Amino acid sequence: MKTPYKHIARLTHFCDLKKPVFVAFVPCVIWETSEAVNGTYQPVESDEGLEHHLITLSCEKRKTRDIINCLAHEFIHAWQKENGLDYLAHDEKFEFMALALGVTYGYKVYERQL
Ligand SMILES: [Zn+2]
Repeated sequence: MKTPYKHIARLTHFCDLKKPVFVAFVPCVIWETSEAVNGTYQPVESDEGLEHHLITLSCEKRKTRDIINCLAHEFIHAWQKENGLDYLAHDEKFEFMALALGVTYGYKVYERQL
């Protein structure tokens, strides 16, 4: 898969993120609970506060479209973090951004991504 720079730039702009977003594409992401997941979001912080966002996406045996939708999902968590919201929540604010990204660009963002 080619690095989806277009989507990364568009999502960074739409979410109005001030901090850099690093995206890692790996064969399979293992979450803290030892389960395989399709993607994760982690804020990277120092004593001065938020340094950057880290999104990690599983790529093995997945359709590019699903990976891009998962990218959009994780960007919403970065948006939550920068706006002082609960960045682990799939609450009504998450749903609002998911809907906005769907209407604007056609991303399909779910609570649990394919
Ligand atoms: Zn999520």
